[in-house]
Order: sequence, then C-alpha cells, then structure tokens
Amino acid sequence: MSSFEADPEVGPPWPTELLEGAPVALGGPRGFAVTRTLPNRQRRMVGAWCFLDAYGPHDLAGNQGMRVGPHPHTGLQTVTWLVAGEVLHRDSLGNTAEIRPGQLNLMTAGRGISHAEETPASHSAVLQGVQLWVALPHADRDMPPAFTHHDDLPVVADGGLSATVLMGAFAGAVSPARTHTPLVGAELTLAAGTSAQLPLQPAWEYALLVLDGAAEMDGTNLKPGPLLYVGSGRTSVRVSCGPATRLLLLGGEPFEERLVMWWNFVARDHDEIVQMRADWASGTPRFGEVRGYDGPPLPAPPMPITRLVPRGRVR
Ligand code: MN
Repeated sequence: MSSFEADPEVGPPWPTELLEGAPVALGGPRGFAVTRTLPNRQRRMVGAWCFLDAYGPHDLAGNQGMRVGPHPHTGLQTVTWLVAGEVLHRDSLGNTAEIRPGQLNLMTAGRGISHAEETPASHSAVLQGVQLWVALPHADRDMPPAFTHHDDLPVVADGGLSATVLMGAFAGAVSPARTHTPLVGAELTLAAGTSAQLPLQPAWEYALLVLDGAAEMDGTNLKPGPLLYVGSGRTSVRVSCGPATRLLLLGGEPFEERLVMWWNFVARDHDEIVQMRADWASGTPRFGEVRGYDGPPLPAPPMPITRLVPRGRVR
C-alpha cells in the first residue's frame, strides 16, 4: 500500500465550508495586494493557524514588489512560504535571510520581536507566496523571540503527489521547524491527472488552499482564492486535479484559548494590546530594532474606540 492510499473514507457526507478571501492592500490603497482567508468571518482559526494571506503571482516589472517596513509581533509565529520569487527578511535579533521557494522562514515572536520584509534588489520577475501566523499557546506566548531559516524540509512523494512538510508531521515526514501545539502545514504538488488520498488525524481540523491550478475535493471545485475548511473527524480526504496543481494543507488540534488579534499582535485581552502598542510607540527594548531596512518603522493604527473582545476559534 502506498503512503497516500489509506483505506477509502467511509462515513457520512462531510460538511465543508468555503471561506471566501478578503482583498487587502498592505501599506495602503496602492499597496501590495493580498487575499486574506484567516481570520475569516465564520471561522477565525484552523488548529493554531490564525492568519493566512496569499499573494501573487505578481509581475514585479516596473514596481518595487514587497516593501513592509519594520513592525512588531507578539504571541505568534510567522511562517513565510514562497511559490515564486524571493523575500528578504531582517529582524531585531540581527538575522538577515533571503527566502526562496521550497524554504521556510519561521519567526517566533514570543514576548516581542520586530522585522521588515522586502523584495531584494536582485530578484525574479514574479513573486507569489503565503504569509501565515500560528498562535502560541499560553505556556509559550511570552517566550524569548527566535528566528530560523529552514532549507532542509522533508519531502514525501508517491505517485503523482509530492508533499513538502513545512511544520509538524504529514504522511510520516516530520519538519524540523519548532512547533508549540500539534499542527501541520504542508505544500502538496499534484501532477496532472492525479487523484490522491491524504491521511488525516480525526481529532484535528483541516483546510486546503489552492496555490496554483485547480483541485476537486469531495465534490467541491477549488481554485486559488478561497480556503476550503474540511473540518475534523476524518481519517483521510481524496483530492484530485486536472492540470498540475499546488495546494497548501493546514491542520491542527483545535485551539481552544480565546485570543485578541489586533494589528500585528496576538494577545489575550484589550489591556495587553494597549501595552504592546505603547511599547512599540515608545521604542522600548521589548521589540528591539531592525537594522538595514531603507525606510521608517510602521506606526500602529489608533486603538478602536470600543474595548477589544477576546474571541474563540469559531465566531
Ligand atoms: Mn510581519
């Protein structure tokens, strides 16, 4: 038996949710265009995955590509993954790392870090990728910040399907990236005409995003844009494609802590956000300093008039 041909799924028709993405321009109306599917109106998280922006393919001819100036993070890990092109990362720990497709940049904010991301001076014609956040659980959310560039991710291939494991474990392959809750993130590439059974853990919830091409899953046709929430309780899911297709699989143990997510911060209540915002505005050592980026730090937006309310994974 091949690793992707587990017993055929037997069970009820599984409910799925198609989570539409919201168009967002990073850095203002003429900014860098992304499609945000997490947090979503109905569903804020998939496991500990709490943020998903997909972008591109963007033609970089005649524009400067990505330019996100120094900004802070707390209480989360940023997971950067590219389909095409390059992004240059600089952070307040002194790390500089250029990332390319097939590699992972994992930044653990913990109590506080700041970073900048930009298209490097020498770059490919096209930029495409995803920016994800993973919420840290209570026990680790104030840990010291860290950054790791991984270019040694495991790939498990079988038939027409190849899976690169970014985070966690999938089909017996384990990523070296450090996780803090049980979860998985994997890029799946399907050759034209492939139909594959993906092994799942029934206690986890999952979602699929098409990065390139088009897929069919349980009668739902999926193209780049929306995130298909697959739910939990299943041991596998069958995914098929016509032309060659690239997918992102996200999953994990449902994250039961209530969070306040505001700007680039993940916290537990309104007052924590107020403190984080004040610490960034006043330049306390909490967030350090990013060196080498040609531009000013990003100011936090004004606080909302009403108090921020902690929310669970489902709205
Ligand atoms: Mn960031």
